[in-house]
Amino acid sequence: MHGHSLLVVSLSLVFAATACGGGDNGGGSSGGTGGQQDGGAGSGGSAGSAGSGGSAGSGGSAGSGGSAGTGGSGGSTSPDATLQAGAADRFLLKGTVVTPDTSYVGEVLVEGDTITCPAQGTSCEGQSGASGATVITTNGVIAPGLIDTHNHILFDIFNNDDWVPHLPTSCNTVADCNSGSSYCSDSKCDCIDNVCRYTNHNQWPNEAEYSQMLDYKQCLEDASQGKPWWCPQKYDEAGDLKCELDKWGELKGLVAGTTSIVGLPGTSSNCFSSLARSIDVTQNGLGADKIQTSALFPPSSISANGVCKNFTSGKTDAYLIHCGEGVDTAAPTEFDKLKTVTTPDGCLYAPQTAITHSTAFGPTEFATMAKHGMKLTWSPASNVALYGKTTDIPAALDAGLEISLGPDWSMGGSQDLLDELRFADNWDNTHWNNRLSPKDLVVMATANGADVLARSNTLGSIKTGYKADLFVVGGDGTQPYADILGANPHSVRLVMVGGKVLYGDDQLEAAGPATPGCEKIDMCGRQKFICVAEATTSNKLDETFAQIKSRLETALTDLDNIQELPAADCNNSCSSSERCYPNTAYPQVAATSCSATCTSGAKCYQRYKSGSNQFQCLPVNECSPKRTEKFAPLAPVFACP
Ligand SMILES: [Zn+2]
Repeated sequence: MHGHSLLVVSLSLVFAATACGGGDNGGGSSGGTGGQQDGGAGSGGSAGSAGSGGSAGSGGSAGSGGSAGTGGSGGSTSPDATLQAGAADRFLLKGTVVTPDTSYVGEVLVEGDTITCPAQGTSCEGQSGASGATVITTNGVIAPGLIDTHNHILFDIFNNDDWVPHLPTSCNTVADCNSGSSYCSDSKCDCIDNVCRYTNHNQWPNEAEYSQMLDYKQCLEDASQGKPWWCPQKYDEAGDLKCELDKWGELKGLVAGTTSIVGLPGTSSNCFSSLARSIDVTQNGLGADKIQTSALFPPSSISANGVCKNFTSGKTDAYLIHCGEGVDTAAPTEFDKLKTVTTPDGCLYAPQTAITHSTAFGPTEFATMAKHGMKLTWSPASNVALYGKTTDIPAALDAGLEISLGPDWSMGGSQDLLDELRFADNWDNTHWNNRLSPKDLVVMATANGADVLARSNTLGSIKTGYKADLFVVGGDGTQPYADILGANPHSVRLVMVGGKVLYGDDQLEAAGPATPGCEKIDMCGRQKFICVAEATTSNKLDETFAQIKSRLETALTDLDNIQELPAADCNNSCSSSERCYPNTAYPQVAATSCSATCTSGAKCYQRYKSGSNQFQCLPVNECSPKRTEKFAPLAPVFACP
């Protein structure tokens, strides 16, 4: 997805992303402007369905493109993996190795964080590093960890139960859609396969229900994106849950074999990238972060020119930008805008640039992209949920483009990259006459992902010297690529990030870090272990899976319980779409801190950390968009079929 509401340019290389209420280069250092601006709320029309528990069933996410969600047959059956304990930092894995270019029955030797031998047959076990290693006989398929090149990771606490487009669920004509929903007025929606869909990315962020979800996320993360007035101040500063939000997203990927995620988190805290690699942060375990991302289109000229400068200096070697998301006539013009936004024109038409979505593009745009070595990231489930269509991948392949995959997010999109692979496969089978083989899809989610991130020399393949980012699924080896496509977190047997085993079947737990140990979890009836806590209290790294889950769940319930005040408490001044709420986003300070004397109904607050506007008189109660949705419980890391 790609909303104007997300004014985030995650200059992960240099800056934490901060851009409230203005251009993408804003960078206010504190406070923010209130979630109302970021969320685009306050104008969302009359909030519709009152009541609780989100909106399952009211939207179009079911779609016609295959079963997003809970699929996965678990692959072909094979006996459980077995473990012979040995060294904690050396592993010899035996099974069917998917490199992913080819597959063979053989072995993979891991020493420290690196793959030191992949080979057919048993030759790796003859290497000195294999002596005394922990041996795992997988009876399955060993693959490079999946690489998610597009996710909004801080939204991963939500899923389809929290928001899907609030559009009429059935239609025969376009008119059925545009008369049936306030969000579809002005002919904003289309009727595709008898379901109403949006036509570009500037429409759905106007939904009041979407804004409420966005406000929750921004309340719980740090203040860089602005906070809604009603957000309790305890979630600011030391109390923010940004680490937990990110870790939840990393966990959601990890259990599905995803070892690297472009999540646009914009931070430098060490709690990021502690599980799966949040790869667009400096502490990604790879020595540097040369990825820049832009969730905003168009980027400002200043930021776009900055990216070009970073291409030249070598500071940035991968630039990922949302562009051409939508199906109306406005969307394709974004490709031209990407050319003209810079001085000189066209410096973003470069091999470092990967365009996310390109839903609206055709052979002409794809030919230009290919000519310049540009790449494409495909998010079919999200595209179909919002727009009823997705990128013309056969045309992109015909043009010679390299394509990677990303689930985008879980609201209408996929739960994880394995889900996304299945959605892509189903869409391909039903719309493109099976143009893509299981192998093509696995390559998109591994080697191509690494290439899009300019990491094809260290990630995305099983080769000597590559990072030991691996996962194992069951399967007898006769159809290893299909086994990967059939897998889900229930059937994923083992996941290793940088040589550390962090998730797997219970009988393999001895492969996980011994200190402080791993937790047992039930994954849809299969006992698993998951290793989350580390042996240090800094940066919340000692948090367990259970603690992260509990903190997020408690916070969502806490926000759900915020009550509106009588209208009189806001001087009866709220509009019909608003209600009166206590202003809890900022700390109240002594009246003498404010240069002015606050009027009746207002108090002195510390709005910013520093600067001349630091202390301000603000109303004690404030009108905010009426809250109609509730967002507890927390979306699970995996919803069992
Ligand atoms: Zn997106």
